[in-house]
Amino acid sequence: MAVIATTNKLKEVLSKGQEPHLMTGEQYKESLRDGRRVIDAEGNLISDVTTHPALKRGIDNLAKVYDSQFDPETRDITTFINPEDGKRYSTGWLVPTTKEDLKHRREMLRLSTYHTFGVFGRPNDYGSMMAMGFLSIIDKIEKENPDYAENVRKFVEFSQKHNVMSADLIPDVQTDKNLPPSEKKGTLRVVEELPDGVILCGAKPCGSVGVQGHFATVSTATSPNLDPDAALWCAVPINSPGLTLVLREPTTSPDSNFEDHPIDSFGEELDNMMIFDHVFIPREYIFSLRNTKLLGLYRESCALCHWHILARLMYRSEIFVGAAQTIVDILGTDSFQGVRDLVSEVISYSASLKAHILAAEEEAELWNGVLVPSTEFITAGRLQSIIHYPRVMHILRDLSGQGLISRFTSKVWENPEIGPILEDYLPGAGVSAREKNKFFNFLWDLSCGSHATRVALFENTNSTNAPVVQSELYRSYSRSEAVDYIRQYLNLPDSRQKIKRLYAHDLK
Ligand SMILES: Cc1cc2nc3c(=O)[nH]c(=O)nc-3n(C[C@H](O)[C@H](O)[C@H](O)COP(=O)(O)OP(=O)(O)OC[C@H]3O[C@@H](n4cnc5c(N)ncnc54)[C@H](O)[C@@H]3O)c2cc1C
Repeated sequence: MAVIATTNKLKEVLSKGQEPHLMTGEQYKESLRDGRRVIDAEGNLISDVTTHPALKRGIDNLAKVYDSQFDPETRDITTFINPEDGKRYSTGWLVPTTKEDLKHRREMLRLSTYHTFGVFGRPNDYGSMMAMGFLSIIDKIEKENPDYAENVRKFVEFSQKHNVMSADLIPDVQTDKNLPPSEKKGTLRVVEELPDGVILCGAKPCGSVGVQGHFATVSTATSPNLDPDAALWCAVPINSPGLTLVLREPTTSPDSNFEDHPIDSFGEELDNMMIFDHVFIPREYIFSLRNTKLLGLYRESCALCHWHILARLMYRSEIFVGAAQTIVDILGTDSFQGVRDLVSEVISYSASLKAHILAAEEEAELWNGVLVPSTEFITAGRLQSIIHYPRVMHILRDLSGQGLISRFTSKVWENPEIGPILEDYLPGAGVSAREKNKFFNFLWDLSCGSHATRVALFENTNSTNAPVVQSELYRSYSRSEAVDYIRQYLNLPDSRQKIKRLYAHDLK
């Protein structure tokens, strides 16, 4: 039985370590050798994901974050002590109930973002957000079936105790939108119900980091029109029999070195499609079944995910500011007003994301005992973050001039004829030519390369793109007080009912 196998593998791995609820990087890697079925971009079955060229470096990178749970310098960020039993658990599984908890989680997020330069949109501490989102709306799940609510609580507890990393699976596979939902063959659905669980067929797309994690949490919160058999929220062990993960083409090369690719040489999170061929999901992992009332409950169930996504981008934007200033310093372009203006635009982007995050945390509300940052500020901030991201990338490239193209590989620098010439001709301000070259290699990985483009796609789309966020903001942002004030001031007819219908019709 898959779930038992996953549980046993995690238990076995943890039993060999020094902390009962925390894995080292090596233990994490061992936990992924669990019989999962993964097909690589060559069409081949992968025997060990931790050694596969497309996955190894990314897994090693995530393993370092696991290791930081044991490093005295970082362990108070990456772990917390549960006052109930005095034991250490991963901060990724700290359920936020106070503003201090949110700050603690954000420190963790800062660490994982700076560690990966934020190119892992689903770092170790992200996956819990969806399960905690389920906790935050547990009253709605409880109303459907108290057993399912209990399953959510137990899943969070289990994951906390076993240092789990999980992926999100929300949208349906892409197909002709004109087809009625029941005719879309790929939609994941229940094909059989058994006393102890359900059997699933179909697929879920875009499981970023799924192959590098232990579970996927599934919901149908962005699909309002599904038929009941497809309305399903659950947890899926990645090594479930019948489940196949098909990887997209990698965007980083397994052979690149640090000097030539300072970011990409640490690998990437791989997106994949998960194909379910009669996958058994035991009842204990079902969180909602055939409850069409939960369809479309995206904003509420993913409020914490969205906070994490925006806060990660906020920390990335600090890196963008640092990168912009370093370009200017290295190229000696600081005296140009136009250059200063562009750097200011990047600073403004970063400060604005920070302001949204801080405001959202300040106005956080308890939902069923879980502290959820203000969705109004998060939604507004996400819109800013998505719309201006391409502009910020453009500014970084623009400020660089030829720096992004007059870059040469370490092998060229080591050529005895060419290396010295480059060293003479291309120095930067306060840095040698080769150091300048390394910096622009970094900037290439950050803003230009194939991996950077995948990350840009991710930032744009991973949790719905700008038009959808805009609609959501229009629907949910409260502004009736100001509207009423203006109407009263001008003695215009009261349109309270209409306003309610327009702006806040869906908070069931
Ligand atoms: C790199 C990457 C990683 C991702 N990782 C994850 C992940 O880990 N977990 C996860 O759950 N999802 C992930 N996603 C998926 C993401 O959630 C979806 O791509 C997103 O919700 C959009 O859905 P779709 O791709 O099905 O777009 P479609 O529904 O096929 O829409 C295509 C386009 O049509 C337009 N459009 C569609 N609907 C509307 C509308 N209502 N209003 C205005 N315009 C509209 C938009 O331009 C949209 O991009 C990832 C996506 C990418 C690109």
